[in-house]
Amino acid sequence: QKKELQKADGENLRSPICCIMGHVDTGKTKLLDCIRGTNVQEGEAGGITQQIGATYFPAENLRDRSRELKADVKLKVPGLLVIDTPGHESFTNLRSRGSGLCDIAILVVDIMHGLEPQTIESLNLLRMRNTEFIVALNKVDRLYGWNTCRNAPITKAMKQQSQDVQNEFKRRLIQVTTQFKEQGLNTEVYYDNKEIGKTINIVPTSAVSGEGIPDLLLLLAQWSPKTMVEKLTYSNVVQCTVLEVKGLEGYGTTIDVVLVNGVLHVGDQIVVCGMQGPIVTTIRVLLTPHPMKELRVKGACLHHKEIKGAQSIKIAAQSLEHAIAGTGLYVVGPNDDLEVVKESAMEDMNSVMSRTDKS
Ligand code: GDP
Repeated sequence: QKKELQKADGENLRSPICCIMGHVDTGKTKLLDCIRGTNVQEGEAGGITQQIGATYFPAENLRDRSRELKADVKLKVPGLLVIDTPGHESFTNLRSRGSGLCDIAILVVDIMHGLEPQTIESLNLLRMRNTEFIVALNKVDRLYGWNTCRNAPITKAMKQQSQDVQNEFKRRLIQVTTQFKEQGLNTEVYYDNKEIGKTINIVPTSAVSGEGIPDLLLLLAQWSPKTMVEKLTYSNVVQCTVLEVKGLEGYGTTIDVVLVNGVLHVGDQIVVCGMQGPIVTTIRVLLTPHPMKELRVKGACLHHKEIKGAQSIKIAAQSLEHAIAGTGLYVVGPNDDLEVVKESAMEDMNSVMSRTDKS
């Protein structure tokens, strides 16, 4: 496959892929629900997210919802693909798999608890992979005496608070920035941040009443293309990772993948890494969830003839039973040597295994 020559000129950008990380119970699921405007928590076993799902936010949606901030958002990315990461401790492997794909991340910290063990673990993963992130300082509504301002920008909401609440907020904010400093990171609440790019932005949020959510969406949308034009310049070379392997009634074993770059077509010959060697198969069906719905929520799916990255997709094909999550998916092009592609696919096995060993 020849890489289409693309100038990194800010045109033709793909959607950034974002993941939500942080300690258990900081509100990752709730935050995703809140920015999605739906509730998937009830559809989960025991409230624990055991799978990686993804939600795609079209750019207009982000723009509409941060309109109140009156920022001049000229979004050149088509949207934002948010990967949900499980909040349970035993899913470190899934978390590291998710974070490897991400262009940007939201690190959720509970304002009442500050940095916790998994916050630090997430932080280390992000640093290891050089992934930029925003800190969502969540649960501000838990500050004693908080006056709810549903879905308001955070500065507006803050003005509605008593002096006591504002003082308490500042005290806790200082605590958290100090804890980050102890981890070697400079952080600052975003509206006071004079060193964007150097100092990490903190956005105070409530995933329950929505304060600060417009700010978070705006920062995600605005900041990612600015700092990552090169990384986000769309390339036609397929870059695709298998997130999950599972059965779907009527389709047999399917794989959920994140297509970062390139186009997949029905009928493409693909190779994925399998437990018993490379799996060579042909894409039979390409499915995406309905816009604004998550892959793992049952509901209407859209069938596609082809799909362009970045998108999360379900693929139905034969012989996928032994596919290994966390590995790459390769398309065999007309000029490719199948044996070489098979080798590349199997190389991923080692990286997945070594990653699992470490975690
Ligand atoms: P996760 O483990 O990080 O995914 O956390 P969840 O999203 O499951 O949230 C854990 C608990 O905190 C749930 O009971 C949520 O309702 C609650 N929660 C999450 N975000 C907020 C928030 O902003 N404010 C308040 N008061 N509770 C929250």
